[in-house]
Amino acid sequence: MTRAINLGFPRVGVKRELKFAAENYWKGAGTREALLTTARELRLRHWQLQRAAGIESIPCNDFSLYDQMLDMSCLLGCVPQRFGWQSDYVDLYTYFAMARGSKVAAAMEMTKWFDTNYHYIVPEFEAGQRFRIASTKVFDELAEARAAGIEPTPVLIGPVTYLLLGKAKYDGFSLTKTAEKLMPVYAEILRTFARQSVTQVQIDEPCLVTDLGDEAREIYPAVYRALAQSAPSLAINLATYFGDLADNRSLTFSLPVSSVHIDLARAPDQLEPCIDAALANNRRLSLGVIDGRNVWRNDLNRSLSMVERATAALGQDRVSVGPSCSLLHSPFDVNEEHAMDPEIRGWLAFATQKLAEIATVARGATAGTIAIADELRVSDAVQAARRASRRIHNPAVDQRVSAVTPAMLSRSSPFAERRKLQASAFKLPMFPTTTIGSFPQTAEIRAARAAFRAGKLDSAAYEAAMRKEIEVMVRFQERIDIDVLVHGEPERNDMVEYFGEQLDGYVFSENGWVQSYGSRCVKPPIIFGDIWRAKPMTVKWSKFAQSLTPRIMKGMLTGPVTILQWSFVRDDQPRSETCRQIALAIRDEVQDLEAAGIRIIQIDEPAIREGLPLRRSQWKAYLRWAVDAFRLSAAGVVDATQIHTHMCYSEFNDIMDAVAAMDADVISIETSRSQMELLDSFVTFRYPNEIGPGVYDIHSPRVPSESDMGALLDKARGVLRAEQIWVNPDCGLKTRGWPEVEQALVNMVAVAKKARATM
Ligand SMILES: [Zn+2]
Repeated sequence: MTRAINLGFPRVGVKRELKFAAENYWKGAGTREALLTTARELRLRHWQLQRAAGIESIPCNDFSLYDQMLDMSCLLGCVPQRFGWQSDYVDLYTYFAMARGSKVAAAMEMTKWFDTNYHYIVPEFEAGQRFRIASTKVFDELAEARAAGIEPTPVLIGPVTYLLLGKAKYDGFSLTKTAEKLMPVYAEILRTFARQSVTQVQIDEPCLVTDLGDEAREIYPAVYRALAQSAPSLAINLATYFGDLADNRSLTFSLPVSSVHIDLARAPDQLEPCIDAALANNRRLSLGVIDGRNVWRNDLNRSLSMVERATAALGQDRVSVGPSCSLLHSPFDVNEEHAMDPEIRGWLAFATQKLAEIATVARGATAGTIAIADELRVSDAVQAARRASRRIHNPAVDQRVSAVTPAMLSRSSPFAERRKLQASAFKLPMFPTTTIGSFPQTAEIRAARAAFRAGKLDSAAYEAAMRKEIEVMVRFQERIDIDVLVHGEPERNDMVEYFGEQLDGYVFSENGWVQSYGSRCVKPPIIFGDIWRAKPMTVKWSKFAQSLTPRIMKGMLTGPVTILQWSFVRDDQPRSETCRQIALAIRDEVQDLEAAGIRIIQIDEPAIREGLPLRRSQWKAYLRWAVDAFRLSAAGVVDATQIHTHMCYSEFNDIMDAVAAMDADVISIETSRSQMELLDSFVTFRYPNEIGPGVYDIHSPRVPSESDMGALLDKARGVLRAEQIWVNPDCGLKTRGWPEVEQALVNMVAVAKKARATM
């Protein structure tokens, strides 16, 4: 029979129980026991849910109190020395200190998990790095599941992926040598499983869908030989996900594992070659047919036919069915959506529904289509209804998209010309000061927004409250003498949701939370249809703010690539197409802002870099449509209108051409944490336009002094032309408190003025 398997399940809980328990513990409001009890209850509930849904291979150790890579570092005893850890096992205090920092040691770095919006804690390898088993979590969870009557499949991050995603903190790091030190620990873990009569284990090697260096390709066989030899009785399911194995396919199937899991949601075309490879190497195939990264109901007929192709070649017993990747990246349960339009809700499947889809396809593959005839009929009807729905298609959008001309992607004049016009129009001083857009969201602002949403505050009262806030912020900026003002964005909950709520083609979930990092969850909006801006979204606020002051007020928008990137996206047309529709909506907004007298407009694109495909061969195509989308959104203004963009946490080296091709008049970037290192790529590239390298690290609660920021500005002046430089914080100030923001901005303005005095 064809088995239904799962690779991982959301941990946080349907009501985000883990988030609240962890935050209570951190605050000292909840005990360690309370946190661990909540965690145990969630694991048990999720295992039972999977069993009830018909999943036959249920994962354990996919759960985490913070992050699975951090768990792996603890299991392997890879704890940086600065945490002062010396005992046998990593305790909870050290665990959270590694994730979040402590009084004496800075947190470990966090970065994006492949091309998802999930962030993992980056392993650190120090000189003389040693490894040993230093956590019992995976064994404890195994015992816990067994006590609940479930025989789970333990999940581990594979050794090569673990090493490739880590960072060496010393010169002369060798992947091969570090792997040699690491392998005995993995071997010991597998032997322990075997001693405990575990029969199968899932080892995740998502790096196999990326471009591998020579050394990585070389160590894979030796590493997996060592694993296979350590516990011959253990069946290893080698899980790959997030894309096509492509040039790593023969390597992958040559590894001595029992089964290979492949992602058929992202890369359906790899099915046939993988069937051939499985046959040739006598491997089982685990088919990721249910999309773990998106929210749409599966086309069960299509999935079943893929699975049947595999079973016809390999036999039912050598094929299993699962999600494309861990369901960690899916919201929990669509049945928690009580307010959503029922037609659209009927198109969606969250993690809980995906379990049922997996089981259904496996049952169909085992017992024949007749066994799942009802499910197939419903699935076909849903797919047909969605395709035909008027809610999806907007002929006006089609028309506009097809009317886009190359000229619409370019400003009328080159930057050098625009710069002159803008300079004479604005008459800004050297080193002009500005902020990135948002100001602290106070409790009053949030209360007013919540009351308005709940219908407890009418729109007149709400608008009055927001206007009052805006006026306070404008007066504040005037008082401390900022040159280009912002309205502070009190009316915005989130930089994507705010726009999504005003665009046709978007729907919002109430409870569709997805873990972003640690206890932080996000609720990505869902793009289900053509994007259309029915009316202006921000103009009224910007116009009001401008009316309060003779200084220049900057209009604030989120760019099309970022809106796309931070949403669940429709799967019935290419992402590039959806992005272009969003770009047209933003273009309309930009032009309306200009018509309303806003002369500087910032279009934030913090997500351009994270949208890069995992394979370098696909970068060029992506960057072309991404940059085009930005240009389409920005280029509808006259030369004298200044377009800004903002990016944060980007490494620019890889994409400098694209950043320059966006042709924003001014770009503000996050540079203070790297002490301006990020500027290097701008300097090497001779970035022609203006730059605001952030001098104020807004992610640190410490108020930067004049000399801190002055030193950063001096560094920037050392490598950029003075007339290129703007002075600003490195990101929005929404999450900070007023007293520190006030002091920091006063210092920042003083630094700019001092710099002017030295010209
Ligand atoms: Zn930012």
